[in-house]
Amino acid sequence: MTIAMTAPRRPGAAKMMRQYELVDRVRSYNPHADEDLLNRAYVYAMKAHGAQKRASGDPYFTHPLEVAAILTDLKLDDATIVAAVLHDTIEDTESTREEIDGLFGPEIGALVEGLTKIKKLDLVSKRVQQAENFRKLLLAVADDVRVLLVKLADRLHNMRTLHFVPPDKRKRIAEETLDIYAPLAGRMGMQGMRSEFEELAFAHLMPAAHETIRARLEHMQATSGTLINRIESELAERLAGRGIRAEVKGRQKEPYSIWRKMEQKSLAFEQLSDIFGFRVVVENIEDCYRAIGQIHTRWPSVPGRFKDYISTPKQNDYRSLHTTVVGPGRQRVELQVRTHEMDSVAENGIAGHALYKDGRVLDLQVLANESRAYDWLRRTIGQLAEGDNSEEFLEHTKLELFHDQVFCFTPKGRLIALPRGATALDFAYAVHTDVGNSAVGSKIDGRIAPLMSELKNGDEVEISCAKGQVPPAAWEGMVITGKARAAIRRATRSAIRTQYAGLGRQIVARAFDRAGRTLVDEKLKAVLPRLARQSIDDVFASVGRGEMYSGDIVKAVYPDVTEERKAGAAPEKGDLGWFGLSKVENLRFKFPDAPGGAIPIRGLGGNLPVRFAPNGGAVPGDRIVGILSPGEGITIYPIQSPALMAFDDKPEAWLDVRWDIDMAHKELFPAQIEVTCINEPGCLAAVTAVIGDGGANIDDIHFLVRSPDFRKILFDLEVWDLKQLNAIMSHLRTQPVVSQVERVNG
Ligand code: MN
Repeated sequence: MTIAMTAPRRPGAAKMMRQYELVDRVRSYNPHADEDLLNRAYVYAMKAHGAQKRASGDPYFTHPLEVAAILTDLKLDDATIVAAVLHDTIEDTESTREEIDGLFGPEIGALVEGLTKIKKLDLVSKRVQQAENFRKLLLAVADDVRVLLVKLADRLHNMRTLHFVPPDKRKRIAEETLDIYAPLAGRMGMQGMRSEFEELAFAHLMPAAHETIRARLEHMQATSGTLINRIESELAERLAGRGIRAEVKGRQKEPYSIWRKMEQKSLAFEQLSDIFGFRVVVENIEDCYRAIGQIHTRWPSVPGRFKDYISTPKQNDYRSLHTTVVGPGRQRVELQVRTHEMDSVAENGIAGHALYKDGRVLDLQVLANESRAYDWLRRTIGQLAEGDNSEEFLEHTKLELFHDQVFCFTPKGRLIALPRGATALDFAYAVHTDVGNSAVGSKIDGRIAPLMSELKNGDEVEISCAKGQVPPAAWEGMVITGKARAAIRRATRSAIRTQYAGLGRQIVARAFDRAGRTLVDEKLKAVLPRLARQSIDDVFASVGRGEMYSGDIVKAVYPDVTEERKAGAAPEKGDLGWFGLSKVENLRFKFPDAPGGAIPIRGLGGNLPVRFAPNGGAVPGDRIVGILSPGEGITIYPIQSPALMAFDDKPEAWLDVRWDIDMAHKELFPAQIEVTCINEPGCLAAVTAVIGDGGANIDDIHFLVRSPDFRKILFDLEVWDLKQLNAIMSHLRTQPVVSQVERVNG
């Protein structure tokens, strides 16, 4: 949260700055200023603009002078100030780049040309053009960040004098300022300028809202002005008493930041709790922490609001300690504690760095290279070279500027920066991959919240973990960060691989049994090269996925074993006859001699990668077989399923499986039944009542036949097991309206 601070405004531009005034301004912070250069620029630009007038009726020359004045407030170097004075000459007068190069040198020439390139930015109206010009703006500043600083100052002066511009044009300029220039200034770390952009644009875009808030703030000021003074002096005294030299400044927030808060949190003005902000500026970092200690001793702090941006600076280089306390009159008060240097950087961004290096004005480009904010600018410009769709680019960059990040905290106060839209689960993965993989729940600001909750700025997030769980694959849809997504994919992949390997081991062990041998890992290891696999787990996983045949593994270890493909033997009529399945008499499958040899199958929650045949699947109690297909693992079919005929000639795909139901964690299984009933009122109700009585869920109902006499209805059910299903079917058959009940086996 930033408390808006507005740089002192020069009251009305009507009075033109004199030549000596400009020089004095620069010399006040830079004794080595090139006076002659400044004077020549002043005279040159004055002559070039001649009798041109602004919309206000003022001589045009007042504009570049005011732009230069804004930049002297930022204490910038001679070249930047001179470029500001000359910034409109090439575009609006007879001047040329060559002439400026000749008179002021190529460095200034390049700056002025950069500004000329983006001059048309002010003249566009269509969206695509705005995007294209924004692109030009960023490309123009790619060479020299000072171009951006002059451009921002140029826009600031135009905003200060916007009331002279016709209303329709005014609105567009204000919108563009709010959309592009304010966030850009903020992104470059220049909070003072950003705040002034926002206030001016807000006043033009929503004059009524602006005026209401301003009036209410004024009223509050009148009633609580003493409160600010009281806190200010008490704070200053208290810190002085502990030997901390501090400047304490209290103020109300600006209308726009209040408006934004009201909008974001849907609050009424009365509900806004932190209208007051105080800034405590101290000598050094140690004093920052000592001061915050004193503040917290005096007033209770609001939990979760302490932020340490000194140990973890924001991306735009912003550093400060933030806290909110409950001050006098139960009024919540925001405090920022920082050093003079941090204060200057916070207000002026890159430009602010210049002041505190040996008290001299340094080469801005050198400083910019060290700045994280400039780093961002460079990256953004890098992306420009690739994309050619300006509008898309603007969307993307605006997204970056506005919605780029949310800052959240661990309970211990560690800052976690995430892209906007990130969820608590993203947060967990950002803290640590292990935390993400083992996350089971979260608390946001002390309240239990789902892991998929979207995070907001300032949220304090606590993740609860449970060891030994595998992240469900569905989590991939709950995260937006690449890190989380990749980690989930990795974990799911390795979990599935483990499942396949477990299944494969069982299959291979059975194949060895059948051959009268025992599976010994060491012997299998010895033949890995022949199997072209890295490890025995690779072998097992391949078998589990159906990519290798278990009989081939036995042969690789014991070449003397002659395989007797039991699956290819004639079916034991007795078994199949028991089911009365004449239509699958071709089924070549031998049931195992010992039931223990079958692979135990639990439902979908089990530890094997199984799936159930889509239509009329098996329920516990059904005789089942597994069909192993490459890459898919096992599909479970009830033995009577006609779909099994498709696998007749692939005996190696058949797996013997048995149910292994965990009675403590029973699962529901899908089953389908077809009910034919007499068409009379209440017949459907009678049927569903029986199903409900039997304790099954009805998932779906399809009418297969609607004749005047009868109805044939397909029910998708969920049941615990075959016993329950059979009981329901028998009960249905007892009903007078029911003429036929059949189970569907897909
Ligand atoms: Mn201009």
